[in-house]
Amino acid sequence: MTQIYAYIVHKDGVLDDSAMELIEVAKKIADTPVTAIVTGSGVDAVAAEAAKIYPEVIKIDNDALAYPNAEVVRKALVNALPADSIVLLANDTFGMDLGPGLSIKMDSSYISDIVAIDGVDGDLLKTIRQEFGGEVSTHTTCDMSAGAVINIRPGSFGMDESKAASGNVTDKSADAGDLTCGRKFVEIVVPEAGDVDITKADVLVSVGRGIEDEENIEMVTELAEAMNAVVSCSRPIVDAKWLEPARQVGTSGCTVKPKVYLALGISGSFQHMGGIKGGFIIAVNKNPNAPIFQVADVGIEADILDFIPELTEAIEEL
Ligand SMILES: Cc1cc2nc3c(=O)[nH]c(=O)nc-3n(C[C@H](O)[C@H](O)[C@H](O)COP(=O)(O)OP(=O)(O)OC[C@H]3O[C@@H](n4cnc5c(N)ncnc54)[C@H](O)[C@@H]3O)c2cc1C
Repeated sequence: MTQIYAYIVHKDGVLDDSAMELIEVAKKIADTPVTAIVTGSGVDAVAAEAAKIYPEVIKIDNDALAYPNAEVVRKALVNALPADSIVLLANDTFGMDLGPGLSIKMDSSYISDIVAIDGVDGDLLKTIRQEFGGEVSTHTTCDMSAGAVINIRPGSFGMDESKAASGNVTDKSADAGDLTCGRKFVEIVVPEAGDVDITKADVLVSVGRGIEDEENIEMVTELAEAMNAVVSCSRPIVDAKWLEPARQVGTSGCTVKPKVYLALGISGSFQHMGGIKGGFIIAVNKNPNAPIFQVADVGIEADILDFIPELTEAIEEL
């Protein structure tokens, strides 16, 4: 079995939760020590944090790696890692950009967005992916004999939060080679905070496309007021301009950690669920096969257009 590497995502010096997930994935693939890879500019502290999780950490420090430019990171990894490596990446926006091209450059197998591992048979890795918004599971086999790049859906594998390791950090910055590239990083555009900060709310009443019409948003607001909660939403609601961007939960919106998350007419896409980092999830959906029911603590099969006013009335009576 070749060496397994986990690419560490970090922002403002803080490791992404995927750092604690990828080590769990690696353990399911092989019983060999896994090495974390930290790239960036001035990443000593981040590498030290990664060493609390991983027995070995490779650091590639270069000004050209200061911003999330997948083309530059790809070059650095191709130059620094053995060709037959198994590289684990989070299936976030950056990982989706990095992974496919990396597998081509490393001449290895590629598999995207896996949610589970179904076993290992020699060099063959059996994985499960989801299609059609999570309503269909597909079983896929990945030949790892010449290496593999594997994108893992965030939130699917659990986390090793012990931070009990005291790993070695090896500086491979000199192995990164020529990092000039055609793609230029321009800027990070941070969404405006707006009047509301859903990241601080204890109770979120979150609305999705199931609400059907802009006029119906009012009943969600009334329910939130009755519950002393804050209204949040999925991306289609922001795209339709029914609520402001500051209320969007998900990988391209806000990350929230409420005590209670009431999801109304939200299917449970991984981009949405990726923004919920804890809390008791109550999902209301009229489709009994909606993927959100697989992760909700409580699932209620109902039409939200009936359910919301009834719940508001019941709470107001209380
Ligand atoms: C790069 C990228 C980033 C993204 N980032 C985000 C993100 O940050 N946040 C995000 O939310 N999405 C994001 N998305 C979009 C994401 O893929 C999904 O399309 C989106 O989350 C779906 O939103 P939804 O669940 O509201 O709508 P749908 O998937 O359309 O689900 C609507 C649900 O409502 C149910 N429903 C319909 N009518 C009723 C009713 N009357 N009563 C009860 N239930 C009903 C349906 O059964 C369905 O389950 C991103 C996509 C991409 C490609």
